[in-house]
Amino acid sequence: MFHSDNLSINEQNHLTIGVHDAVELAKEYGTPLYILDEDMIRKNCQAYKEAMDQYYDGNGLVLFASKALCTLYTSKLVAQEGLGADAVSGGELYTLHKAGFPMEKVFFHGNNKTRSEIELALELGVGHIVVDNRYELDLLNEVAGERNVTQKILFRIKPGVDAHTHDFVKTGQIDSKFGVALENGEAFEIYAYAATLKNIQIDGVHCHIGSQIFDVDPFHEAARVMIDFMAQLYEKLSLKVRILNLGGGFGIKYAPEDDPLPAAEYIQKAVKTVKKLTAEKGMELPYLVFEPGRSIVASAGVTLYTVGGIKEIENVRTYVSVDGGMCDNPRYILYGAKYTAVLANNASAQPIAPVTIAGRCCESGDLIQEHVMMPKIKVGDTLAVLATGAYNYSMSSNYNRLPRPAIVALKGEEKKVIVKRETYEDIIRNDVL
Ligand SMILES: *Cc1c(COP(=O)(O)O)cnc(C)c1O
Repeated sequence: MFHSDNLSINEQNHLTIGVHDAVELAKEYGTPLYILDEDMIRKNCQAYKEAMDQYYDGNGLVLFASKALCTLYTSKLVAQEGLGADAVSGGELYTLHKAGFPMEKVFFHGNNKTRSEIELALELGVGHIVVDNRYELDLLNEVAGERNVTQKILFRIKPGVDAHTHDFVKTGQIDSKFGVALENGEAFEIYAYAATLKNIQIDGVHCHIGSQIFDVDPFHEAARVMIDFMAQLYEKLSLKVRILNLGGGFGIKYAPEDDPLPAAEYIQKAVKTVKKLTAEKGMELPYLVFEPGRSIVASAGVTLYTVGGIKEIENVRTYVSVDGGMCDNPRYILYGAKYTAVLANNASAQPIAPVTIAGRCCESGDLIQEHVMMPKIKVGDTLAVLATGAYNYSMSSNYNRLPRPAIVALKGEEKKVIVKRETYEDIIRNDVL
C-alpha cells in the first residue's frame, strides 16, 4: 500500500520500516528524526552496479552523488558496495576521505571550485575533476603545475537538452550556470585549449541534464549529443576521450502518481543508445559513468515528527504543526516538492479531510505539504513523511537555531545512530565572542 516495499503496517496499526515500528523509533530516539533503511540503500547500489555489469560488461562506474546525502557512514556504505562518488565541495571531499573512500573513484564537480578546494582535491588524489569553465581550467593547471602532477579531467557540457523537470533542477540548457555550451562553440574551444596545457590530461566528457526526471528520452538525446561531440573532438582535434559521464537525475516516487523506471532499466536503455550510436560512428565504446544521487537514497529515508498544535480555520484550512519543518526538509519551500505523509500511529486509518502540514520555523512558507487528505490527527500523533533520504539532511539548516535531528540507520533487526542529534551546545560551538 505504500510506495516502497520496505514499508508496511503491523498489528498495532503502526507504520513499519523494515522490521521496525516507526512509533517505537520515535519514542526511543525522539523527534524529529531521520530514519534510513540501510538495506535499501545497499540494494539500490547493487541494482545499479549489476545493471552496469549485465548490460555493459562492467565497462564503467556508477557514482553516488554525495550531495544527496553525505555522512561518514553513508560514504563507507557506498564504498563497500563498490560504487564511486561525486563530490561538489571541499566538505564533501573531506567527508569521503575521512570515511576511507577510494579517492581515485571520486569525481569532483562544481561551478566555482576554490583554489583551496582544488589543492585539497589534488592532495587527496581525487581521480577526476570535472572542470566547469576556463578560469577554473587555468587555475587547476597552475595548481597541478606547482605540485608537478597531471590531473585527469572532464568538462561539464551543456548539451542543450530539455529535461522536462522543475526549472530550478534543470541544468542542461544554455542558460545555466553550469558548464560550457555546445551551440556557440564554447565547449569545443575549451577542449582545444586544454589539449595545450601541460598539467592537464583530458579524459572525457560530462553532462547532467537535471534531476527528478522520469522520461528516458532526454537521456537518449543527451547521449546522442555527447557522442556526436566526442566524434567531433576526434575528427577535428584528434582527441580521443575515454569517458562518457551522463550524470544522474533519475526520478523517484514521492507521490502515488510518480512512476519512475527501475534503475536497471535506465541503465539498460542508456547503454543501448550508447552502443548503437557509437557503432554507427565506428567509435570504441566509451567508459560509461552515471551519477545517481536521489534514486539511491531518497526512498530509503523516512522522517518522523510529533504533531503539536492543530488549527482548524473554518472555511480556510486546517494547519497541523509538527516539530520540524524547512530546517530538516526545505524542499517544499524551495520547489513546492511533493511528499507523502502517513499517520504512523494509525497507519491504516482512512483519510477524511485535507490538512496542511506546517513546520515550526518562523516563515509562513515553512510547510511540508499543503491540502493533503489525512485521517483524523490529534496532538501527540507521530507523523511520517516518506522518501526523505535525499536532499533533506544534506540541505538541512539551523534556522531559528533549531538543532538538526539525528539519523538512525536500520539494517535488518539492527538499528544505530549514525549521526547524533545536535545539541544547543553544538548550536553555539562556533560563536567565539
Ligand atoms: C545533483 C547532481 C547529480 C545527482 O542528481 P540526482 O537527481 O540526485 O540523481 C549528479 N551529477 C551532478 C553533476 C549533479 O549536480
